[in-house]
Amino acid sequence: MVENNKNDEKPEVKEEDKKIEDIKEESETKTDIEEPKAKFTFKCTRSDKCCLTRGPIPITFWDLELWARNGVVTNFLPYLDIYNKPSGGIDLVLKPLPPTPKEGEEEKPRDPFGGVPIEDLLEIKCALYNKEKKECLVYDNRPLSCRTYPLEFDGKNFTVVDVECPGIGEEGMTKENLKDMRDTAKQMFYELTRMRIALPVLSQLISQKVMMDLMKQNMDAMSKMSDEDRSQLDEILKKGQEPQPE
Ligand code: SF4
Repeated sequence: MVENNKNDEKPEVKEEDKKIEDIKEESETKTDIEEPKAKFTFKCTRSDKCCLTRGPIPITFWDLELWARNGVVTNFLPYLDIYNKPSGGIDLVLKPLPPTPKEGEEEKPRDPFGGVPIEDLLEIKCALYNKEKKECLVYDNRPLSCRTYPLEFDGKNFTVVDVECPGIGEEGMTKENLKDMRDTAKQMFYELTRMRIALPVLSQLISQKVMMDLMKQNMDAMSKMSDEDRSQLDEILKKGQEPQPE
């Protein structure tokens, strides 16, 4: 593992009192001769910090397409989940596994239908990280979000989302590396936007379809009931509606 040198030459990011730094995107009207000026440098130090605390990782169509091309979609299925964010949006995410309780600690009772809420897993190790070997188990198929980390693009500015990342300030980043990283961050933004537009629509359609199928199944089952069974069911339903003794 390469140690992070905190006295490194490009300390701009760290010196800003751990604030998130916005890196203004270079003008789209630049000529080919002009190269973007690097305001930060980055090189992954394989410190494993990010994979140990990533929490849920947003997944895009780009990831799904990559996995489909490589025939590995089913390998990822157990880790995929829908995250209804407190802000109201929906994300498809790679969900971390709940941590095993420490010795003497009681396991939290689980919701049999929902599992551990994603809110409880926001800073948990990625399920696909091997802590002992310090390696990503799906490196060639890792999500786009991991490829651009810790740089993000919000449609206007580039942002360093983890100013504590030891790779920030590391030497060795060429202008081409920076351009690639920015392009990947931009791609992540556009892919995530596509997913965030599509997911609520698909989710709504699928829920409607499931609901309609359930109602149809119930109606089919009712139509096949004998008169005796139906009157028994009516009795049960009536009892359920009667006021219960205090
Ligand atoms: S998928 Fe791989 S690179 Fe991404 S957080 Fe998990 S272990 Fe790290």
